[in-house]
Amino acid sequence: MKADAGRRYRLYPTVDQEQVLAAWGHTVRALWNVALEQRVHVYEQHRRTLRAMEQCRYLTEARAESELAWLAELPAQAGQQVLRHLDAAYDNFFNPKHPAAFPVFKKRGHRLSVPLPGQAVQIRKLNRHWAEVRLPKLGWVRFRLSRALGGAIRNATISRDRVGWHIAFGVATGIKAAALNGKPGCGVDFGVTASAYVSTETAPRIKPPGLDKRERARLRYLEQRKARQLVHAKRHNGGKYSNRLRRTSAQIAKMKGRETSRRQDFTHRLTTYLAKNHGFVGIEDLRVTSMTASAKGTLQRPGRNVRAKAGLNRSILDNCPGERRRQLEYKCRLYGSQLRPVSPFHTSQTCAACGRVDPASRQGCGRLFACAHCGHEDDADHNASVEIEARARRTGGSVINSTRRRRTVPSPAHGRMRMREAQPATRG
Ligand SMILES: [Zn+2]
Repeated sequence: MKADAGRRYRLYPTVDQEQVLAAWGHTVRALWNVALEQRVHVYEQHRRTLRAMEQCRYLTEARAESELAWLAELPAQAGQQVLRHLDAAYDNFFNPKHPAAFPVFKKRGHRLSVPLPGQAVQIRKLNRHWAEVRLPKLGWVRFRLSRALGGAIRNATISRDRVGWHIAFGVATGIKAAALNGKPGCGVDFGVTASAYVSTETAPRIKPPGLDKRERARLRYLEQRKARQLVHAKRHNGGKYSNRLRRTSAQIAKMKGRETSRRQDFTHRLTTYLAKNHGFVGIEDLRVTSMTASAKGTLQRPGRNVRAKAGLNRSILDNCPGERRRQLEYKCRLYGSQLRPVSPFHTSQTCAACGRVDPASRQGCGRLFACAHCGHEDDADHNASVEIEARARRTGGSVINSTRRRRTVPSPAHGRMRMREAQPATRG
């Protein structure tokens, strides 16, 4: 049985283990880049695509070479897993129903991660809150057992982000989709400014700021200190980062990591509430990619209001529309609800009472909806959410065609173009 759920835990390696894991992370990145380069090269020379099976043989040969000792230090299973992931990246690129572009090289500053197959790890529970995982060549590493695993482990991924180390397990839970819960449905209008209006509620839900006043002040202080230290590094140190500057950067990263986690928490709570308490959840079927495309234009015809559009894009993405939908998809399955994406056209101009579409209903007044025909008045976002609910009810659970962007026919030329874009990033 394949993994059908992910479980992510905070990992607490010792200082020595941390060094080994970081080294592995860089090796994984190098291996990915070399393997990708080899595939592109072989395709250009021989018009055929290498697969993981073949590249695993090359990997075994390379591990035996004495000058590639760093490669041999990475567990063999991790290396093979990287090559299998590259297979998956290619498969997604060639799948016309998948939005993935051609695989790209990983930069040095990229998040470190080490993939392992399930049979390479072993888990032992220490007590209610702690467990440890046995990693090949490294031994037992403790992690915080913040929730039960609930199934057999199919794969494990160790990663480092700005908060610290984590381990994520792909778990086969075998949980089937729940029977329909039979509760009344709802529609949700997600605003641009990090808010959500549920049709069954009387007030919008506002995403709380990730940091409080004191934390924001501290972040500002740290950023000012970093700016000062950068100037100093340039003037007196030939641009070389001092240890203090590194420390400041790490503190800033930690602050921002905390902000991100709190914002993610809001989204998780909201989507869980929606899926648990409603028979269906209507949302607007938005084309996030085209909605948040850059306005920069081309060199010959530069776009206008580029910074303003970038700011709008940031606030749309800050509200994480794609992630929200992903969460609703799996949570609705889990709690016996249905996710019903509806056409987003004119939801804000349609009267939820009489159904007439008229931009005049939104005239002159910012947040107020006043129907120009029947006189219905409501908060504009609530009116939109009621309209979304009505559209979702009309679809009756039948799957509508997604307006998500489909990629056109894949071509090797497209891949080469992406390669060229990626190239400078890997050098230096
Ligand atoms: Zn009306």
